[in-house]
Amino acid sequence: MTTGEWLIPFNRPSFEGRELEYIHASIASGHVSGDGSFSRRCHQFLEFELGVARALLTTSCTHALEMAALLLEVAPGDEVIVPSFTFVSVANAFVLRGARPVFIDVRPDTLNFDERQFEQLITSRTKAAVAVHYAGVGCEMDSIVEVATRRGVAIVEDNAHGLFGSYRGRQLGTFGSLATQSFHETKNFSCGEGGALLINDKRFIERAEVVREKGTDRSRFFRGLVDKYTWTDIGSSYLPSDLLAAILFAQFEARASIQSKRREIWWRYRRGLVDWAARTGATLPFIPADREQAYHMFYVIMPSLEARQRLMSHLREKGILSVFHYLPLHLSRMGLQFGGEPGQCPVTEDVSDRLLRLPFFNSLTAAQQETVIESVQQVVD
Ligand SMILES: *Cc1c(COP(=O)(O)O)cnc(C)c1O
Repeated sequence: MTTGEWLIPFNRPSFEGRELEYIHASIASGHVSGDGSFSRRCHQFLEFELGVARALLTTSCTHALEMAALLLEVAPGDEVIVPSFTFVSVANAFVLRGARPVFIDVRPDTLNFDERQFEQLITSRTKAAVAVHYAGVGCEMDSIVEVATRRGVAIVEDNAHGLFGSYRGRQLGTFGSLATQSFHETKNFSCGEGGALLINDKRFIERAEVVREKGTDRSRFFRGLVDKYTWTDIGSSYLPSDLLAAILFAQFEARASIQSKRREIWWRYRRGLVDWAARTGATLPFIPADREQAYHMFYVIMPSLEARQRLMSHLREKGILSVFHYLPLHLSRMGLQFGGEPGQCPVTEDVSDRLLRLPFFNSLTAAQQETVIESVQQVVD
């Protein structure tokens, strides 16, 4: 079924008001390829709001992760530690460079990278580890950064869910040498397809600009630093059109309203389902007191796979689309080829069967949400 066929879809692209105006402005500017004025404004916005050394828009978070793998010079024989409970691109970006993904389990409370297992997975071949801030709730960054620094492992934060979340007062995306964002239609801020690479370790800035511009020094050329541009490194084409940046900038400008809507949606679910969860043995998201979440999603963890499937079918009968994710990467066809085996990441295997995400998008109305909550409450075992 497509979005329109559901009474309440899981996601619906939501626009804040100025997107079309900015698309028109981009067309009028005569510069709709990458790194036009709206891209620059998006870069400045991310750099200013997050305090990162450099932010570069990319065509997706997947491509930002690929850029991270290129910048870290990940090569055949290297190992990269990635959660099994995450999106495939987190592993694929490094596999494309010839690395072997080493799967780490997640914590049962936050479903984040389990920092207590990190050090034992590090070998002399470990090049990097990816901390994915699941549901926009920060990983245990103090511990992860301490181990990584001591053992010489680079940290990449996959902050696709976590823009404007924070851990112990510091914003997500500012801990790793590099961090990645997604502006896919399902994320808090969106231009359909898009992403960004955030650079905290300044040593990567110049090369990131080259890798992103087909391996040329075109960025320096545009700044007047060289009088012609040429092939200087490996690279690819990771710049989104300025038309997409125009949409994204309109969303960035609405940051306060988008985040407050999402905060409200999250708390309405929480308040509406807390008693039901206690009665049915379902678990609701856990947010440790020392972090501010980004309000990316609301999920429930049911007592069993059967209970999850029953809830999902009941919602489907009511015209409500709920979705589950992630199938454990270590047990996927690719994961098995890299040595994944059943029992390796028990929390991931368990949660993957029992987690269900409820509709969550910026324009979800209170009335729609009431319908979802009432429908969930009808399922009591
Ligand atoms: C959405 C997502 C991605 C991929 O984002 P794209 O922009 O679609 O490439 C990567 N990692 C996580 C955790 C995601 O949720």
